[in-house]
Amino acid sequence: MKYIREEMAKDLRAVRGTHDILDGEIRRFDRVIDATRRVCALYGFEPLATPILEFTDVFKRTLGDASDIVNKEMYTFEDRGGDSVTLRPEFTAGVARAFITNGLAQRVPVKVYSHGPLFRYERPQKGRYRQFHQINAEILGAAEPAADVEAVTLGAHLLDALGLTGKTKLEINSLGNAESRERYRAALVAYFGKYKNDLSEDSRVRLEKNPLRILDSKDEGDRKIIVGAPSLEDHYTEDAARFFAAVRDGLEASGVAFAVNARIVRGLDYYCHTAFEFTTDLLGAQNAVLGGGRYDGLIEQMGGPKTPAVGFAAGIERLALLLEDAAAPTRPVALVPIGPAAERKAVSLARALREDGFPVDLGFGGNVGKRMKRAAKCGAFAAVIFGDRELESGSYSLKRLDTGAESPVAADALTEELRT
Ligand code: ATP
Ligand code: MG
Repeated sequence: MKYIREEMAKDLRAVRGTHDILDGEIRRFDRVIDATRRVCALYGFEPLATPILEFTDVFKRTLGDASDIVNKEMYTFEDRGGDSVTLRPEFTAGVARAFITNGLAQRVPVKVYSHGPLFRYERPQKGRYRQFHQINAEILGAAEPAADVEAVTLGAHLLDALGLTGKTKLEINSLGNAESRERYRAALVAYFGKYKNDLSEDSRVRLEKNPLRILDSKDEGDRKIIVGAPSLEDHYTEDAARFFAAVRDGLEASGVAFAVNARIVRGLDYYCHTAFEFTTDLLGAQNAVLGGGRYDGLIEQMGGPKTPAVGFAAGIERLALLLEDAAAPTRPVALVPIGPAAERKAVSLARALREDGFPVDLGFGGNVGKRMKRAAKCGAFAAVIFGDRELESGSYSLKRLDTGAESPVAADALTEELRT
């Protein structure tokens, strides 16, 4: 028997890298999501919910064979019908899939935002989990730099709405267009090729598959070599340079503070032109809070119509870690009925008070002492105590729990009294 219990207790742990979200953390989560809804509405973004589960190809074909996500981090399995499915590791590919599946190309530009859980098989640490949550926003079907400016401005506005402007900084870069990248790729292969034996194993693979991604390496040895790497800026085509200048100019016009950092490259294959990241100094190695960029080729590559697009994602856990403690929830009124008639009355009284907007705690059972304890425990500001005597006289006994003051209140004056 004991053995069985121990086995069960072991099985009852949450899976490594996943966590239950409760108390203060879930209130901070809700604040992030509420602010997202509010700010996204100001920018005319519509909510969109895509499935957590997609066919594996949705991610595999889009994120790039050399990406960490595809190689090491996806939760992929065969379902009972024999299809390979994957728990989404990011939003954009699923949103692009939904855009194509639902024929949204008719309505461009389409501006959508989402939030929900994502799954990556990473090494868990503070601010890095295997199930985590993001808010995500995308503008689909807009090729103009003004769309990049709006996406970045929305991100900045959102952080501002959460009081995080002072805790984060924005860096932007341009990855250029396909031609710029091809030129740059050749320059990087030539440069990193010289240091091939000093690069980390991951970066040696990247050198073959996608040398640009070496710039994103967190390996210390790599970082030293990266310092001397050629810069993308010197390889922009005229169009790419003009696009980047327009984005910078737009951001200045919108009053969003930023710095250009040539080392900002997004980790995924499908990005071009603008890449941006809001980071913080307050979360150790997990410094990325909100990141995004332009991905003009993705939807066409997935088999949809040519649809230039730009968007971003932000980690809700990391945002929540940065938030000050949320204001405590509104304190309830506790009902303390004595006897069966009062018990019955409590049900309708609770309903009436709730309709008037008061949170109400019904103790469910126990004697007066037990219920008063429960009232204190749930943080009630007042207890309404009543038995047969009070029901007969049409009044309640109202006890203020902070002061202990108790006085009778006429039934029809209760709501007003509680408001004072
Ligand atoms: P990092 O460099 O920290 O691995 P990333 O570049 O992989 O981040 P993105 O794929 O751009 O991150 O996702 C956007 C945001 O999602 C990040 O800025 C971060 O806030 C959050 N995020 C990413 N991975 C995790 C994770 N494993 N746990 C919690 N939050 C995460
Ligand atoms: Mg990552």
